[in-house]
Amino acid sequence: MTRTGIGYDSHRFAAGRRLVLGGVTIPHPEGLAGHSDADVVAHALTDAILGAAGAGSIGGHFPDTDPRWKDADSMVLLRDAYATVRARGYAFVQCDITVITEAPKIGPHAAEMAARIAAVLGADAGDVNVKGKTNEGMGFIGRREGMAAIAVATLERR
Ligand SMILES: [Zn+2]
Repeated sequence: MTRTGIGYDSHRFAAGRRLVLGGVTIPHPEGLAGHSDADVVAHALTDAILGAAGAGSIGGHFPDTDPRWKDADSMVLLRDAYATVRARGYAFVQCDITVITEAPKIGPHAAEMAARIAAVLGADAGDVNVKGKTNEGMGFIGRREGMAAIAVATLERR
């Protein structure tokens, strides 16, 4: 039996922060604001994996009021969330992630992000797809105020 979950996340751009996406630090004039490292890719995927297992949300497992998660490496949150769903009897099958931003270009970094994510999940990089889109200049993403990510993850019951 397979189950599917969806995750969405967005963060505001902020000066003086590293831009970390899918565990990869990407050269860019601005990073993303957040309690943790604000890795919008890791957060969306974590929510998708938790959702597929019916295990709640990233905010429930890792509240941003908890000082433990201040400047946290979000790939550690992803690993912890996956441990939670494994304990409930689920195994990762595949995921697809769309990063929506006007800049930077995601394509040149997509393979490295997929490899990092796959390593955390003990999966093949081919089972993790990462792609980028612009928002055609519209809305908060178009105004370059921030970026968003959407993830879909499939788990199977073991
Ligand atoms: Zn987030």
